[in-house]
Amino acid sequence: MSRLKGKAILITGAGSGIGQCTAQLFASEGAEVIVNDIDAAKGEETVASIVEAGGKAAFIYADVTNPESVQQLTAKAIEQFGRIDVLFNNAGISGVGAIHEIEPDAWDRVMNVNIRGVYLPCKYIVPHMMERNSGNIINMSSCIAEMGLARRASYSATKGAILALTKSMQVDYAPYNIRVNALLPGTIMTPFVENYLRSSYADPEEAFASIKQRQLTGELGRPDDVARAALFLASDESKFMMGSPLYIDGGVVFG
Ligand code: NAD
Repeated sequence: MSRLKGKAILITGAGSGIGQCTAQLFASEGAEVIVNDIDAAKGEETVASIVEAGGKAAFIYADVTNPESVQQLTAKAIEQFGRIDVLFNNAGISGVGAIHEIEPDAWDRVMNVNIRGVYLPCKYIVPHMMERNSGNIINMSSCIAEMGLARRASYSATKGAILALTKSMQVDYAPYNIRVNALLPGTIMTPFVENYLRSSYADPEEAFASIKQRQLTGELGRPDDVARAALFLASDESKFMMGSPLYIDGGVVFG
């Protein structure tokens, strides 16, 4: 399989969940994968799984909210791989609460990781893509950008912002042959969702059943459902897609 042969792809937050699964799929399709995470042990695990399967990958630590850290990530990735063809801004954290329940520090944390954590990798990697007159950026939004869900005020604000940012960036960078698209997953079973359910509901099983009920499929998504959509956006098969939202949500937005 070689749908990504010749491409060096940086994935933020690739030590777990959707990012890890995408890193593994991209490597199996011939990409050289730069695995970033704030958790070095988890990032190294992703790399080990790729190398064991015969793929190419390296871990580079960075906190996507920290400018120096992201500058170092960019420099090291270009030094080790020669270029960054695709940037997948995947790292993100959850936020729970209606707006009156959210403390300012908790609000800022979600804004920092989910918005600043997309802004900074773009800020330092886009000039490299502009210089090469070629690039592809995938931003992780969520179906929550398009629908109201209870007690998700901070998180939904960030994912709506990412969708708007994607469109704005696409207009700015289309002249440099850089594509910018967004993924909008529904509920995907990852540690992120398991932690959210456990920390937010007295009865996580009941919450889980009610989330499942909202899906037109009656089932929740799996990381590889999103990874396969990311594969399409990362490959040249999607070359006519610019500034687009791609839903992978079991129809929940329309349910
Ligand atoms: P996850 O918690 O399994 O993985 C997220 C990874 O990001 C972790 O490895 C974490 O260490 C890393 N990370 C967190 N802060 C970081 C930082 N400052 N710098 C670098 N890395 C950092 O989560 P997931 O479910 O795989 O979610 C991945 C993305 O998909 C997130 O942006 C999330 O908002 C989005 N998303 C998830 C779902 C879902 O249902 N799981 C739905 C829609 C969108």
